[in-house]
Amino acid sequence: MTIELPAEVKKIISVLEDAGYEAYAVGGCVRDSLFGQTPHDWDITTSAEPQAVKSLFNRTIDTGLQHGTVTVRMGGQGFEVTTYRIDGDYGDGRHPDSVSFTKSLEEDLKRRDFTINAMAYNDEAGLVDIFGGQEDLKRGLIRCVGAPEERFQEDALRILRAARFAARFGFEIDPEAKRVMKEKAETLHKVSAERIREEFVKLIVSPHPDMVRTLYELGLTAVFLPEFDTMMATPQNTEHHMYDVGEHTIHVMENVPEDRVLRLAALFHDVGKPACRKTDAEGTDHFLGHPALGADMTVGIMRRLKFDNATIESVTRLVRFHDERFPVTVRNVRRFISRLGSEYFDDMLVLKRADVLGQSMYQRKEKLDRIDEMDRVGHEIMNNAEPLSVKDLAIGGKDLMDLGIARGPEIGTILKALLREAVDEPERNERETLLEEAEKLHTSGF
Ligand code: ATP
Ligand code: MG
Repeated sequence: MTIELPAEVKKIISVLEDAGYEAYAVGGCVRDSLFGQTPHDWDITTSAEPQAVKSLFNRTIDTGLQHGTVTVRMGGQGFEVTTYRIDGDYGDGRHPDSVSFTKSLEEDLKRRDFTINAMAYNDEAGLVDIFGGQEDLKRGLIRCVGAPEERFQEDALRILRAARFAARFGFEIDPEAKRVMKEKAETLHKVSAERIREEFVKLIVSPHPDMVRTLYELGLTAVFLPEFDTMMATPQNTEHHMYDVGEHTIHVMENVPEDRVLRLAALFHDVGKPACRKTDAEGTDHFLGHPALGADMTVGIMRRLKFDNATIESVTRLVRFHDERFPVTVRNVRRFISRLGSEYFDDMLVLKRADVLGQSMYQRKEKLDRIDEMDRVGHEIMNNAEPLSVKDLAIGGKDLMDLGIARGPEIGTILKALLREAVDEPERNERETLLEEAEKLHTSGF
């Protein structure tokens, strides 16, 4: 079994070996190579302690010295080089109370979470696979290194990681591990929002976002995303739907590409539905107001999970506008894009199509035709460079101040009013016309 190591990795390994140490590529990069995928980074494990690593290479970064990790810069890239390590007791179920360095590769591999992640490789020794990782990779199995009870007890995040790797590779989780995951689901409470978010995002941005169903069944979403459990318990008695809100959501996620914003928008697009559900006299469900409530809920959930503001803004926008209904006329589409923001238009079309594909067959063709038409009209509008935002106006704040309007909130209010008119009648987006109109708005005490 050979793995084609990048030149930089070979170099780092040989420098360490020439100095009398052992060194191997380890973990994700070995797993991905054996699976026929290109690793996105290469980690190296070594018997050398951090100070020794630092002395052997010109350019290093102290990434996590207390955990034994030094980043070696080479060929414009960084490679994490970590000393063979034994993790001490996990008193808090999150991280080891202490770590100690060891001279034994086997000890280092033993601390790793799953068999497929616990293999090492270098050109001389070949593959070091003590726990049957290669066999599990062939069988498609996520299995703990050692006893699941202990390993999930040590670090509750591994419960989520097991599901994340299963989603990434389309693997099964070993039944014994799965039983323990369910039993210990509650312990995920101890893990920080940031670590949960990282694993959860990797899970939903994978070829199997439907793994959220497993998270639900194991009682894991109940811990960090109880809103999803509520969605799974919300039926949709309407001819437009054939699934409950949760199952519909899973289908929509499967129908958007593996993109972080799109998968999150799909996940949250109907999160407002449970609270908005009203059943009429005929027994039909209605969800009036769910996009606005859903957008507000999305902000709350994403803040709780410590997402960055830019991601929150993009996802929320798609949620808020995903269900706008209007006849597809040029003027209506122009208004819609102007309110949405033209940079979100393409993602919105992707989300809307996926939404329809997650519904019943009722009027499916008509719904998809409407989206195609919106796509065509919208792109025509954007290609024509018609005014869609304040910055597209033929005048700006400076021009208004030249008219004698004081710097302050009135400037913004007037520009927005001018934009509304220009969106409806693009031919009015012309300097003289806008200046005249601005005067009028100003003197009318607008
Ligand atoms: P990816 O390709 O998604 O980065 P990866 O396997 O490299 O996958 P990382 O989270 O980057 O995953 O971790 C690198 C390696 O460190 C893993 O392959 C595993 O051997 C070990 N590891 C990471 N997190 C844990 C953990 N919580 N418990 C035990 N071992 C872990
Ligand atoms: Mg990695």
